[in-house]
Amino acid sequence: MKKILKNAYVLMSADAVIKKLDILIDNGIIIEISENIDGENAEIINLENKLITPGFINTHTHLAMSLFRGIGDDLTLEDWLFKEMFPREDLLNDELTYYGSLISILEMLSKGVTTVVDMYLFMKGSAEAVKDTGIRAFLTRGLGYDNDDGWKRRIDETLYLFENYHNNYNIKIGFGPHAPYTCPMNKLEEIAELTKKYNTFSTIHLYESINEREMYTFEDLEKTGLFKNDVIAAHCVHVDEKDIKILARNEITVAHNPSSNLKLGNGIAPILKMLEHEVNITLGTDGAASNNTLNIWDEMRFAALLQKKNGPEKFKTEEALRMVWENGGYALNEKIGRLEENYFADLIVIDLDSLEFYPKDINRIKSHIVYSPINKVYATMVNGEWVYYDGEYPKLKGKEYFEKFHKLYFDIEKKFNSQKS
Ligand SMILES: [Zn+2]
Repeated sequence: MKKILKNAYVLMSADAVIKKLDILIDNGIIIEISENIDGENAEIINLENKLITPGFINTHTHLAMSLFRGIGDDLTLEDWLFKEMFPREDLLNDELTYYGSLISILEMLSKGVTTVVDMYLFMKGSAEAVKDTGIRAFLTRGLGYDNDDGWKRRIDETLYLFENYHNNYNIKIGFGPHAPYTCPMNKLEEIAELTKKYNTFSTIHLYESINEREMYTFEDLEKTGLFKNDVIAAHCVHVDEKDIKILARNEITVAHNPSSNLKLGNGIAPILKMLEHEVNITLGTDGAASNNTLNIWDEMRFAALLQKKNGPEKFKTEEALRMVWENGGYALNEKIGRLEENYFADLIVIDLDSLEFYPKDINRIKSHIVYSPINKVYATMVNGEWVYYDGEYPKLKGKEYFEKFHKLYFDIEKKFNSQKS
C-alpha cells in the first residue's frame, strides 16, 4: 500500500535546506517529495513536529560481536584480538551469531541506522537476523588463510550466502578478506577475481595499527587487483600521503571508525588529508566489542571533533552528514543516503521534542544532528517498511530474544573460561 508521510520537516541530504514536505512511498521507493501530496488510496501518516532525514549508513561493523561487548577494555589491538576475540570466536555457531547480530541490529535501528556493512563468521546467522529485522545489509564472510581446507570452506560459505541471500531480503553479499596480515597477497588475488566474477564489492581492514606498516604496502595491495572493484577499506589510520594517493586513484572508500580506533589505542586517521585527495569517507562503529556502543551519532560527533584539532574551520558540519549519508550510498553503489525520487525509502523520523534538539529552530538542526546525539529516534523505515516505531520493532514479535541472547552469552563465557583454566 502507498504511504504518505505528512506535515514533517524534511532534510533530503547533507547540503539541502530543511523544508516542510510530504513524501509519497510505494513499493519501497520514494515516488514523490513535494508540498501537499494528494492522499487518495494511500495510508496517511501524520508526522507533525517531526523531522525526516535519510537513514544512517554504518559501513563497518561485526554484528554478532555484541556477544563480546565489554571484554578487554584496556588491551592493545593484538592482545584484544588474539587473546580475547579469536578464542571466543572459535566457540561460535549460527545460532549465536543470529542472536548476537539481532541485538546489534535492534540497537542500530533504534538509533536510525538503515544500512549496515557486516564482516563476520557464521554469516547464515547474521543473514537470518537481517531478514527478521528488516535492516538493509551488505554481508561478507570474514576470510583468512590458515590452510587450504580452511580457506576453501570459507569461500564455500561465501558462495552459499550468494545462492541463498544475495539480492533478497534487502541483502547483498560481498567478499570480506579480513586483513593482509591474516589473508596473504596471493589469496587477495583470488578474491579480486571472485569479486569481479560476482560483480560485487569487498571490504578489508587496512593499516588499523601502526605495526601493519611493517607487514605489507599499499603498492603490494594494488598489484593484487583487489582495488579494481568496489572496496571499503576499514580504518586506514596509519596511511601516508603515498598510500592516500593509491586510495584516491583506485576510488577506494575508507570506513572511518573513530571510537574503535581510539579505544584500541590505534590513533586518529588523517581524514582531512584524505578529503584533500577526494577519498570517499564513510563512518563505521566497528563491532560492539571495540566501541562499545553501536551509536553512529557518536561516530559523526567524534569524526568532526577529532579533525577540528587542525582548526575548527577545517571540518564542516555537512561533511560529517555526507559521511553517514551520500558517501555511504556512493560506496555501496545503491540508491540510499539521500531522500530523492526513485531512491529507496530508507529514512528516519526524529521527534523534535527531543531535548537534545532544543531549541526547535530548523536553522540549527544540522548542528544538532552532528553535535547533539539523541539516544533514540522516533521511527526508522527501510525499503518503505517501518522497522522501528515509537519504541517497538514491528517485524519482531515477543521479547524472548533478549533472554535467549543472555543464555547463549553465559554459556559461551563458561566454555571460554573452562578452556582457559
Ligand atoms: Zn573491524
